[in-house]
Amino acid sequence: MKFSRRTALSLTMVAFFAGPVSAAEVVNIYSYRQPPLIEPLLARFTAETGIETRVVFAENGLVERMVQEGANSPVDILLTADVGRLVEAADRGVAQPVNSEAINSKVPANLRDEGNQWFGLTMRGRVVYASNDRVKQDKFTYEELSDPKWKGKICTRPGNHPYNLGLIAAVIAHKGEAEAKKWLEGVKANLAVKPAGNDRAQAKSVFAGECDLAVANTYYMGLMLTNEKEPEQKDWAKSARIIFPTFAEGGTQVNISGMLLAKNAPNKDNAVKLMEFLAGDEAQRIYAEGNFEYPVNPKVPVAEIVQSWGSFTPDSLHVSDLAKYQAQASRLVDEVQFND
Ligand code: FE
Repeated sequence: MKFSRRTALSLTMVAFFAGPVSAAEVVNIYSYRQPPLIEPLLARFTAETGIETRVVFAENGLVERMVQEGANSPVDILLTADVGRLVEAADRGVAQPVNSEAINSKVPANLRDEGNQWFGLTMRGRVVYASNDRVKQDKFTYEELSDPKWKGKICTRPGNHPYNLGLIAAVIAHKGEAEAKKWLEGVKANLAVKPAGNDRAQAKSVFAGECDLAVANTYYMGLMLTNEKEPEQKDWAKSARIIFPTFAEGGTQVNISGMLLAKNAPNKDNAVKLMEFLAGDEAQRIYAEGNFEYPVNPKVPVAEIVQSWGSFTPDSLHVSDLAKYQAQASRLVDEVQFND
């Protein structure tokens, strides 16, 4: 697995350096996000500006690569699928601030770095998929996940997956570690089965009657509903509906995908142009629609399927807190033996 990924990366690197474009009108990108999501945006950017783009796609190791490359790094922009890697890149000194009113006016302050080193572009909620047959209520709080009335009714993937660590980190940020630990013990006590599988597997468990509530990300509902390759997933999705839980102190927990400007960006002016383009209304709409996510700019419309789930208020917590409390969250998962 590791070997093939590395091979894929190095092959792409060859293509990257051999690109036919002259250096004066190009932006070089490292992307943790997959080609189908990114390529339509870049094509439009090139059509509008004449600036070409070259991309290295990889699932792992891009921040590390930037650190290793240091001052000789060819990369201008890093695109990520989560806030953790944005914070990691900034912490490891491979980002630089961008002070752009065009970006800051489109990205809410709690979804970008206070020092302007990274910016959110799309977001997704960590929500509840509630069985249509067995759950009647339409409001839910995260606190309620630990209420004994749901004993034996909840399904979720392992606690140490980044999506659940993000949720637990948000609980820590709101309530402190001691209360978060009690909460997590309560959630564990309510689990129908040992945590296993991904978010879609939890929807399948609701469909199968194994549990009434699944904790999952919003976009998987859209991906399952439109899955022509595995149409059984449509049935899983249709057996449940999204409820947007809220914290007593805030809104619905969200994570972001995002971007940053590399510390040693050789094509800085073009890179900033691309960042401003990506933060714009049209690009946010296309980017979010591609994966049934939400644009970070609340004024930008969402896809029809996403709209059908209703509206929600994103939590006001600064999204960097998810990274800040991740290690603590991970420790709590071990302490309460969440996965056992
Ligand atoms: Fe995902």
